[in-house]
Amino acid sequence: MALSKLNELYGSKYEQMAIRDHADHPRHAGGLHTGCVVDLNNPTCGDVIRLTVDIEADKIADIAFSGHGCTISTASSSMMTEVVMGKTKKEVLKLAELFSKMVTGEKLADIDMLGDAQFLKGVAKFPQRVKCSTLPWNALKKALEMGEAEVKTLHDN
Ligand code: ZN
Repeated sequence: MALSKLNELYGSKYEQMAIRDHADHPRHAGGLHTGCVVDLNNPTCGDVIRLTVDIEADKIADIAFSGHGCTISTASSSMMTEVVMGKTKKEVLKLAELFSKMVTGEKLADIDMLGDAQFLKGVAKFPQRVKCSTLPWNALKKALEMGEAEVKTLHDN
């Protein structure tokens, strides 16, 4: 996405910088040795994500993502992996709901709970971008449904 488009999306310079930073230098990019694997795509934009989640004792012990997507989906994936690390399933589901409400334009008092993901609130002004931003959260919800029973060894090494 061109920077001018980002400027249009986000009024605050800090928000733009946070989104650009996560898109250019995604946190938790890559895969894990073990975990639940969820592949999900967003056909309306062409975003593809593979999310790997290691759930131990009801908590996100580790998480990583790969794939390719637009600035918003990549930034959202990176922001999400940071904020959910170490959280319980219940806490994650609450954050996912909060995020979904935020990007669909609900006025919320507690979006700072979302960490850097709160900087995507401007997505609410662009309905066609909502699915880009919720893609990683939907993948994570699927991983939580799968749970520890479906943990796979993903690599031989
Ligand atoms: Zn997208």
